[in-house]
Amino acid sequence: MKIARSQADLRRFRRAFPRGASCGFVPTMGALHAGHGALVARARRENDICAASIFVNPKQFGPGEDFESYPRTEDADLAMLRDLGSDLVLIGTNEDLYPEEFATRVELKGPLVTAAEGARRPTHFAGVTTVVAKLFGLFEPTRAYFGWKDMQQLLVIRRMVDDLSIPVEVVGCEIVREDDGVAMSSRNRYLDREARMRAPKIHEALVLAARAWQGGERRAERLRAMVREHLHGFDLEYVELRSTSSFEELQDPVGPGRILVVARMETTRLLDNYPLDSLSEGTATVHSDDVRGSTP
Ligand code: AMP
Repeated sequence: MKIARSQADLRRFRRAFPRGASCGFVPTMGALHAGHGALVARARRENDICAASIFVNPKQFGPGEDFESYPRTEDADLAMLRDLGSDLVLIGTNEDLYPEEFATRVELKGPLVTAAEGARRPTHFAGVTTVVAKLFGLFEPTRAYFGWKDMQQLLVIRRMVDDLSIPVEVVGCEIVREDDGVAMSSRNRYLDREARMRAPKIHEALVLAARAWQGGERRAERLRAMVREHLHGFDLEYVELRSTSSFEELQDPVGPGRILVVARMETTRLLDNYPLDSLSEGTATVHSDDVRGSTP
């Protein structure tokens, strides 16, 4: 596995791979867990070259957020990427990726970036799209793998790629969960014992709503209320029903889409979402995106 610590290294390593080889790319902020692992394993299966990046991107953190304390576990991350058969990884640094003269911001407009996460984190998506556009320029991937865990981010990236005609296929991968249903996240390590014990209720609430939808409940307010009731006592930032293509809010009668929740536990925001039309109640649900020729 080639480890690049600069853009120059990365370009050199990238050029050494055969021309025409397909490249699957997984951008991450490190502190890797099995959720990231599923993206990397899929990139490995579906492409000639499997590439990843690890970069805690300061531009996507707002003031007062956890940029400084974000977990950094480089040795373990590299071991995991190696085990999964990655060929190439960029360990990004601020100085190299954002030199002093750096002056570009890639920023979407409109409800896709101002709703939900965008309303709470107004500079977040511009930070994400700026770094991902840059990483796409560096890695020149054939396919890039993103998790449904960050549903809005996945749709923002798809919009950017279409708008800027970037020649990459954006692949969405279903949420990987702990055995008790908690969506894996690098930030779960911030939770204390008590918060971690309560956290599975979030997934339970989403499954309840999905089951109700499958049973014929099509009233948005009823579906949202079921989640709120199950999560009584939680500090909920939002419970929303959203389209998996446009991210528009689903109106009555609610069609297929996903139900999203953000719960705040102490200072940690736990994001989760679930497909209303999921046929499985298991922990590794599969979205139609994932079905194409892959084994879960
Ligand atoms: P991050 O390192 O948090 O920026 O995440 C890197 C990528 O991994 C993003 O596309 C996330 O959506 C994805 N990801 C994070 N957690 C999970 C999970 N539990 N299941 C699936 N994908 C995930």
